[in-house]
Amino acid sequence: MTHSNTQALFLERWAEIDDLTAASELLGWDQETYMPAKGQTGRGKVLATLAGLHHAKLTSPELRDALDACADEAEPGSDLDAQMREARRRVERASRIPGELARRRAEAQSAGLAAWQEARKAKDFQLFAKELGVLVDLTREAAGHLAPLVASGKPFDALLDEYEPGASEAELAPLFASLRAELSPLVKGVAESGVRVDESPAQGRFPEERQLAFGRRVAEQMGFDFDAGRLDLAAHPFCSGFNPRDVRLTWRWQEDDFRPALFGIMHEAGHGLYEQGLPAEWERTPIGTAVSLGVHESQSRLWENLVGRSRSFWEWALPVFHEHFPDSRDVTVDALYPALHTVQPTFIRVEADEATYNLHICVRFEVERALFAGEIEVADLPAAWDDAYEELLGIRPADVAEGVLQDIHWSMGAFGYFPTYTLGNLINAQLFNKAREELGDLDAMFRAGELQPLLGWLRDKVHRHGSRYRAAELIEQTTGRALSPDDFLDYVRATTESVYGVRV
Ligand code: ZN
Repeated sequence: MTHSNTQALFLERWAEIDDLTAASELLGWDQETYMPAKGQTGRGKVLATLAGLHHAKLTSPELRDALDACADEAEPGSDLDAQMREARRRVERASRIPGELARRRAEAQSAGLAAWQEARKAKDFQLFAKELGVLVDLTREAAGHLAPLVASGKPFDALLDEYEPGASEAELAPLFASLRAELSPLVKGVAESGVRVDESPAQGRFPEERQLAFGRRVAEQMGFDFDAGRLDLAAHPFCSGFNPRDVRLTWRWQEDDFRPALFGIMHEAGHGLYEQGLPAEWERTPIGTAVSLGVHESQSRLWENLVGRSRSFWEWALPVFHEHFPDSRDVTVDALYPALHTVQPTFIRVEADEATYNLHICVRFEVERALFAGEIEVADLPAAWDDAYEELLGIRPADVAEGVLQDIHWSMGAFGYFPTYTLGNLINAQLFNKAREELGDLDAMFRAGELQPLLGWLRDKVHRHGSRYRAAELIEQTTGRALSPDDFLDYVRATTESVYGVRV
């Protein structure tokens, strides 16, 4: 690829910005994996310096000049046009927040995180209420500055746009309404059926090193390249990709149940495959990254749920499972399958099953929306939260630790983030059905352990495009229609019916 001098200058400046991001992420990975506890303070300072440098470069007159100089060369619809669109979006978002506000937000976030941890431990919302109030005020202020950048001009959309570019309340509200209308009766129907799933096939004694070996074996089968990636222990599983040849996954495990580790690894490896499949020719450019958090989550959920919990995958995986866990050699696919599709209302989102998960997100979407519309205030949050759980899931949290204080997001000032989880669930089902339509009998492939055709399809339709297209555009061009909840709902209805005999 050849570039004019002006383009070369723009891309050179951008590459430096990207390198600073990669450096911060690597330090973040280290912080969660190998850094000794006492390294915290020093690490915080290094990260703050890098964040300052990143912001300065992103908002520098030099970058703006380089972008302006390229403007005439960008043909509409060209790669360069997409590069400029993504670069401008990030420059504008960074430039519109006054330095003083950015500084106050950073301070409020560290105070918020500390107060949240304290309050959650003490199960006392009051210990977090003041800090949360400050975070909400500063976020409202920031959203006001960013609102002119989104199509609707609405502050809440400006918050959503940070994590899912182009997403809006007007588009999300009907999706959540139909999920709520369909899933809530389904979950209640299962509870009323009185059917209980025997989870013992997934339980037993599973030593750490065997779970690691099994998880790695499955990730390799998926196509994760361990010469271009790692898998390490961490308190919370995540995936960090610095470039397609260096992608780090983390996992955690539980001795008496193999599911959290295996599905955690498949989830993170799904994210990792996306990172390893990003276009090398656009590395260190604005469109060389994943398109949105929703699309990212679609990749992890697709491997974790649609592949990892399918009968056909287990027909291949079970002998490998028996090899690693000889004590479980009597477990069969038929016995295991229901334990992979339990439906049970619970309080904690991160432990929720496929059917209830999106109801947890519905609660958060509605509460955040009301908060930023000024319909409720911070003091109303615990009651609003508990009421919504009772209405949607039929259960009421006993305390704030299993209620409104369970998630870390607000303490870090991340409002508008949660919908990306649900978008991931909807996108993955729609992509998977299209893959099945185009590739033929996926189940026959899974049974033979052939996961490569599916990965190849995802590489071709999603990974290799980076952020060349907007997320909605990519979904429509790949699946031939706009995003809808139908495919996901069909899937959940079918699995629930086969396990519980409940049809709603
Ligand atoms: Zn994820």
